[in-house]
Amino acid sequence: MENIRIAVQKSGRLQESSLKLLKECGLKFSNGQNKLKAQASNFPAEVLFLRDDDIPEYVQDGVADLGIVGENVCLEKEKDIKTVQKLGFAKCRLSLAVPKNTEADSVKWFDGKRIATSYPVIVKSFLKKENISAEIHEISGSVEIAPGIGLADAICDIVSTGSTLLSNGLKESFSILKSEAVLISSPKLTDYKTELLNKILFRIKAVNEARNNKYILLNAPNHSVEKIASILPGMKSPTVLPLKEEGWSSIHSVVDEGTFWDKIDQLKAHGAQGILVVPIEKMIL
Ligand code: ATP
Ligand code: ZN
Repeated sequence: MENIRIAVQKSGRLQESSLKLLKECGLKFSNGQNKLKAQASNFPAEVLFLRDDDIPEYVQDGVADLGIVGENVCLEKEKDIKTVQKLGFAKCRLSLAVPKNTEADSVKWFDGKRIATSYPVIVKSFLKKENISAEIHEISGSVEIAPGIGLADAICDIVSTGSTLLSNGLKESFSILKSEAVLISSPKLTDYKTELLNKILFRIKAVNEARNNKYILLNAPNHSVEKIASILPGMKSPTVLPLKEEGWSSIHSVVDEGTFWDKIDQLKAHGAQGILVVPIEKMIL
């Protein structure tokens, strides 16, 4: 059987989460010491380990069929590829930053300034949209030292907590792009490979859905069951089982991570006790 080839970052921030996701999708890799490729033992798939910056091009050219890469890299590379699914990890933003004593509260400040970045395409398109003209200095790494050595007035780089900026005497001024890891695909997959992609996509959605939801079990007095059922509608409707103790029920449902803490407060207010919240491994809607 022909393999679908999935490009994954060879080392760096994306690698571990990318491989973990594929594993959670049931793909088993018997990766010996061969760090260029790994063959799945239970699915017609092969992982290729590449530099993340090269992944869009390899996917465009069909060397790889799919790839896992940051949206920031996809946008910067402007290749002919399709983004098929956001993956929810490697969340970060691309931001303009300036020396910490500089007042750069408006984008106008950047007019006529020198900006060092590894993302010239994204920065240029942002500046153009804002009607600002600035000098872009493309550098491939350690962008944050550029202002300190007099190479630039500002930088545009990936930020997650801002601690790297801070330790280089910089502060975030404007966020110009939000990014997370995405699954990309070649625009010209064969029918056979499209079918494999759809299988993988179905599994990714089940994994992501599970990640965003928790299984919840609790005890409640019978008179609160209706109220609690409306707070916890679950996938179809909650399961309600009688407790051995007269007048009490056990309620089982699914609750999403985002509203979880608010709901716990409401449940307690309705007399819920013994609340258990457990992770869900896969969730198929
Ligand atoms: P390579 O040597 O493969 O080119 P790199 O330095 O470009 O590595 P990493 O630092 O591993 O790449 O980052 C890979 C991707 O992870 C980035 O393109 C971005 O999408 C995301 N990322 C980068 N920094 C962070 C961060 N601090 N927090 C979360 N995600 C990040
Ligand atoms: Zn890179």
